Amino acid sequence: MEKICVAVRVRPPVKSSSSEDTHTPWKVEQNRISLHRSLPSGTPAPPALSYTFDHVFDQDSSNSSIYDLLTKDIIHAVVDGFNGTAFAYGQTSSGKTFTMNGSDNDPGIIHRAVKDIFAKTSLSTDREFLIRVSYMEIYNEEINDLFAVENQKLQIHESLDRGIFVAGLREEIVNNADQVLKLIEMGEANRHFGETNMNVRSSRSHTIFRMVIESKMKDASDDDYSTLDDAIRVSVLNLVDLAGSERIAKTGAGGVRLKEGKHINKSLMILGNVINKLSDGAKQRGHIPYRDSKLTRILQPALGGNAKTSIICTVAPEEVHIEESKGTLQFASRAKRITNCVQVNEILTDAALLKRQKIEIEELRKKLEGSHAGVLEQEILNLRNDMLKYELEREKLAMELEEERKSHRERITAQGSGSLKQYSKEETSDTCSTQQGDAFSTPNFKPIRNAFVAKRSYQSRTSEYSPLPDEFGDVADEDTWFKMNNGFIADLDSIQMTPARQASSVPSVDEISDCKADNDKEVQSLRRQLQEAIDEKNKFERQHKEQIAMNNHLMEEISKLQKETLLIQEIPQKLNESLANCKAVNEDVFSTFQSFAADEKSPTAKLLSSTSEIFKYLISTFEANVSMAMNGFKSTCKNSPVEENKTAQNLKDARRNSQYSDTYKDGTLGQQIALWKAEVSGEIKLIQERHESLEQESDINNHLLEASKERIQGLEKESQLLTEEKEKLLLAAFDSSKRLASLTQQNEKNLQDLACEIRRRKDLEEKIRQFSITYASRQNSLMSFHMEFKSKIDYLKAQSPVVSSVSPRSSVGC
Ligand code: ADP
Ligand code: MG
Repeated sequence: MEKICVAVRVRPPVKSSSSEDTHTPWKVEQNRISLHRSLPSGTPAPPALSYTFDHVFDQDSSNSSIYDLLTKDIIHAVVDGFNGTAFAYGQTSSGKTFTMNGSDNDPGIIHRAVKDIFAKTSLSTDREFLIRVSYMEIYNEEINDLFAVENQKLQIHESLDRGIFVAGLREEIVNNADQVLKLIEMGEANRHFGETNMNVRSSRSHTIFRMVIESKMKDASDDDYSTLDDAIRVSVLNLVDLAGSERIAKTGAGGVRLKEGKHINKSLMILGNVINKLSDGAKQRGHIPYRDSKLTRILQPALGGNAKTSIICTVAPEEVHIEESKGTLQFASRAKRITNCVQVNEILTDAALLKRQKIEIEELRKKLEGSHAGVLEQEILNLRNDMLKYELEREKLAMELEEERKSHRERITAQGSGSLKQYSKEETSDTCSTQQGDAFSTPNFKPIRNAFVAKRSYQSRTSEYSPLPDEFGDVADEDTWFKMNNGFIADLDSIQMTPARQASSVPSVDEISDCKADNDKEVQSLRRQLQEAIDEKNKFERQHKEQIAMNNHLMEEISKLQKETLLIQEIPQKLNESLANCKAVNEDVFSTFQSFAADEKSPTAKLLSSTSEIFKYLISTFEANVSMAMNGFKSTCKNSPVEENKTAQNLKDARRNSQYSDTYKDGTLGQQIALWKAEVSGEIKLIQERHESLEQESDINNHLLEASKERIQGLEKESQLLTEEKEKLLLAAFDSSKRLASLTQQNEKNLQDLACEIRRRKDLEEKIRQFSITYASRQNSLMSFHMEFKSKIDYLKAQSPVVSSVSPRSSVGC
């Protein structure tokens, strides 16, 4: 029996900006703290309020002195196999975090404890150690892992082997202090802080830094743990920084801060209740409400249990905080009355991680022989951590199976046999199964001893599973502990002093063999269920793959259709371009024609203008067709952005689904583990979950598929309409271009004819001109002949008058 060590620390007063007055009503003398209030002169002084503790540290004390006087012994005891807990309690801003974490110049208790543990273990020549650490916070009554942010809302469990533990909490195996401090730094970053009126960086959660130290004699045989010297020691150190109790009015909290504050106050109040109950005399003490909050549940071994515990209560010295300080000191006074029952935790079973890892590590060491020593050590550490993670995963699965079993039993109990007898038998079977199933279901249950689970080191038995309860001399303690933790009221002192009193309630050998048979049956049925679940899972996986393939195919189709739609959308623009080209050609041709027909009234000019009119008419008809088609096309496409969005959404969904399925594929670690060990346990739960998730996924995929099909049908219709429209437009364009070509031909022909006509006319005119010339020259020659003839007649007349009267007539007649 050992009292909790309680100390008070008064933080230095905060210097206010307005005055340098650092007056404090609290006076510290050795291990006593008393309140001295200054009263108006003449007022009679009240009796001084005074408290005595194991230690009282004044404002000038350092973390180093606190560690040396309050915590160092506990830390050394932890290395020797005792459980240890140190926690800081006090109102907000009174210096709890400063005490636990410290500053650069004056490191806090955690920092010093870590260094000290490694210093002490390295000095030990006869024992070898395996140390692992974890770091958690309790924020708004939820346990979060500060080493792995994804581990949230963790659950507290208990087992006879491990006592109370947080399932799924990440543990890191470490081999030096720097490594631990780095991990803590990383964990600190994940912690919840917030600003209040009283502390700019107020801790809004309780944090628990935990070190588990396993050790065994260096020359102990690996195969034989049957003697006391060969037992493995497993001890747990909890270093706790509580969030501060706070008066909402003072902290000015609201919203999130208010909610946090309420949770903080509630859990601290329950801690106070637990301390109150424990500090009452053993006779008056009733039910201890450990289960009312996560904090007290986790600290249960430290409060009235199997742990060396120290509490440092921090006090803010300012006059304004007198009431809170008084509250803290009363809490400390009560805590001082608590006694714990502390003993070295020695175990002989396989539960110690050290033993299980030892063999594997030796194998690895052999494999790595020849490598550089440093690399080797690092490699071993990594492998150890991998093994630990793997075992944690198994542990999680085992816990889930355990819960599943429990609920299964509860269901059965509720269904029919509600009798108390039946129920108590099942309770017993539960206890047995935990023990017997140890070899495969909970291999790394680490024995964090509870106060009432006494030392087992003298039980030298090499069994496949943990020894059965009736083989313990202290079995009554376990039984009472078990009852107590299920809500029974027990007399703690009498439990510790009369260990065998309740031995009769331990299951008999017959009951245990019944349990065994029941368990075998259950294992068989679970195996069957597992096989069925695996088959079903494979079926779903196949279906899922097919659906993914179909989805991909549909996605390809959609993208093809989208491309086609884009091409179709370009058609009107191209038609417009060709129309503009036609127009330009027409205008060129027409202007060329006009240049030939100078006279506007000439038939050629008329022909030209009528041709141009026809052409213009054709072009405008064509234009009207194109614009109509374009309008139709636009109206069809009006909803397309929405549809495209839908398609994009569908694509995103499909991608998300495929990502999900990838994640799902990655998440088969638990499955592999379960298969590897061929354990029934965790697999069923996992597979059921997967089964459900696959079903959900399959539903989602089906919906997606339906949506995709509808969308594709819509798109197909749209595409068909567009194709028809496109064909019509193409036909119209083809007709127009044919007509345009024929018109152009006609025009060319007309042009040629015109050119021929012009040439013929020119020829004609030339001929006429030549004829006229010839005609004129002939006329001239005729005239000259006539003149010559006349002159000859005249001459002849003159020569002969008779002849002349006849001859002219005859000559003329010739
Ligand atoms: P709590 O964790 O109790 O809310 P903190 O530890 O955060 O309070 O302390 C509040 C402030 O007071 C911090 O700025 C801290 O540095 C300072 N402080 C607390 N105790 C001491 C001390 N003993 N010496 C110097 N500063 C201190
Ligand atoms: Mg704090």
